[in-house]
Amino acid sequence: MKRSIASALLLASSAIAAAAPQPVPNRAPLQPGAFNLLPLTSVKPTGWLLDQLRIQSRGLSGHLDEFWPDLGPSSGWLGGSGESWERGPYFLDGLVPLAYLTGDAKLIAKVKKWMDWTLDHQQPDGWIGPTNQQNPRQAYDWWPNYVMLKAMAQYQEATGDPRVIPVMEKYFAHQAKTLDQRPLKQWAIYRWQDEVLTLFWLYNRNGDSRLLELARKLQAQGHDWEAQFAEFRFHDKVEKKDANLATHGVNNAMALKSAAVWWQLTGERGDRDALYRMFEMLDRYHGQPSGIFASDEHYAGRDPSQGTELCTVVEAMFSLEIEMSILGDPSFGDRLEKIAYNALPGTLTADMWAHQYDQQANQISCTLANRRWSTNGPQANIFGLEPNFGCCTANMHQGWPKLAANLWMAAPGGGLAAIAYGPSTVTTLVAGNTSVLIEEHTDYPFRDLIHLTVKPDRAVTFPLMLRIPSWASAASVAVNGQSPSGIRAGTFFSLNRQWRPGDRVEIRFPMLPRATTWYNDSLAIERGPLVYSLKIGDSWHELKSFGPSKDWEVFPSSPWNYALALENDNPAASIKIREKPLGAQPFSSEGAPVELTVKARRLPSWQIVDDSAGPLPVSPVTTRQAEETITLIPYGAAKLRITAFPYIAPSTLPQDQP
Ligand SMILES: [Zn+2]
Repeated sequence: MKRSIASALLLASSAIAAAAPQPVPNRAPLQPGAFNLLPLTSVKPTGWLLDQLRIQSRGLSGHLDEFWPDLGPSSGWLGGSGESWERGPYFLDGLVPLAYLTGDAKLIAKVKKWMDWTLDHQQPDGWIGPTNQQNPRQAYDWWPNYVMLKAMAQYQEATGDPRVIPVMEKYFAHQAKTLDQRPLKQWAIYRWQDEVLTLFWLYNRNGDSRLLELARKLQAQGHDWEAQFAEFRFHDKVEKKDANLATHGVNNAMALKSAAVWWQLTGERGDRDALYRMFEMLDRYHGQPSGIFASDEHYAGRDPSQGTELCTVVEAMFSLEIEMSILGDPSFGDRLEKIAYNALPGTLTADMWAHQYDQQANQISCTLANRRWSTNGPQANIFGLEPNFGCCTANMHQGWPKLAANLWMAAPGGGLAAIAYGPSTVTTLVAGNTSVLIEEHTDYPFRDLIHLTVKPDRAVTFPLMLRIPSWASAASVAVNGQSPSGIRAGTFFSLNRQWRPGDRVEIRFPMLPRATTWYNDSLAIERGPLVYSLKIGDSWHELKSFGPSKDWEVFPSSPWNYALALENDNPAASIKIREKPLGAQPFSSEGAPVELTVKARRLPSWQIVDDSAGPLPVSPVTTRQAEETITLIPYGAAKLRITAFPYIAPSTLPQDQP
């Protein structure tokens, strides 16, 4: 192989990157980001989070391509005549970070097989990907390439592969030349920001301003999300006849980053404001206790018996990671943790061999039945290989690994920022050119204590910014035993000092239980970033198997229709906390590392309707049933659950008869 100077430089820089990867900041005229994403592999999971990625690797993510035809050798993304649209790229978008964060040689070999095909089969005109698309509506569709480009960028960061950037450059030149004749259509119209992300990624590396012109063209052809939310008219569950690509949950989850991504080019206040408007509208009309909005395919309202698609969960997480880097708002970290530590595991089996299409906050059975979804079928909430539709089967893999990769980001002034908390290490350069390793030891979110050990090559001054969650009003931080002042919940707390090898930071986020208000004035019990749900006995019945995977129905084996009987307005006083060992599968009902107990009474009038928990009675409610003690476990561990509870007004609590 002829080694040009450029590739020699690339190899040299990748050798440096292997020791201490460096972030690539925004290049003018792009607005500087509040933080900068660290190149993939700068942050590595450890502790329970590494175990979680290993569970994932041993589960569907590590084996799906071995038996699922859409990712088999016939995939158009491997040169075959089979599935040639979004499924190959979706799989890669999660497999790349999973492989390089676990260092699993088998997964890395799989990544290389897929990447090699795309990188080595670019068409002379610059097109990448399949050319044999059988479905004319999907032929030469720009959309699946958005996803492959995201996967390619991650792969380049992890490996420094010198093929990636030239392939991207040639592809974007092709698109710039042909986009007027072959404009965005269907999904590509609604997801344009996901390509703009990669255009900016490349622009920051090669400075070619034609990439910014192409970004403008995509935005002009793309859906105007800002206008949709300026006059937001979808205040309830969308019925089938009104459903379209603008009301589609996954499109909305991807679009959560749209205004922030675009703001980087415009710098206009209106774009930033539009982002907050979107969150506000989705929370107000479709918000659910797990932090995600309801969209069982389409906007589904606030009723906790409505669902949310798994693709929506992982895409919302990725959007939050991106906009945190752009705008640096600590509330994005709160929401990211809430979705990642609740909605994500709550819709996957503990062994990650099966997933749901739709999860419900109040999920009393997962069975073949026609529930009140907007457009989905009877399989939508069972656990399996591809219940309802196979998009989530291909797309779910990015959730955990991208969270792990983005726990830390580069901060202004040559510093580092803790974006979300989880056991990890981060290795990068600080203060310009000093290599630093930070080890984060913690069982967060199951425990409230986080230990950081800072290991710079030599004494160096840089800011270490710690996100203080908005719920952590009693947060404390100590550096080598000394406690600084000025720590405020809902902000970044900056420790700007000289760091010496072995300096220790102890962070404590006391987790008092709290009750938050949801649909029909129901209450959800939260503690730290975790939402707690009623532990319902679950009986798993195999429906069928496909290769090593199985589809399951889940039936309840204990009552679910409880109303909380909190003793007074202070929920913390009514709730007992029991910590259990952190085992091999923390997101399983038997392995839940924390249990809460609280008093409750059955509410006989609350019954099953359409195979889900029926309409949630408006609280406060009354009941003459006897008081019981119920057990709550983390939402992510409770595959059957009640999360939004009616509650009994303390003053109306009946006296039990002996
Ligand atoms: Zn999906």
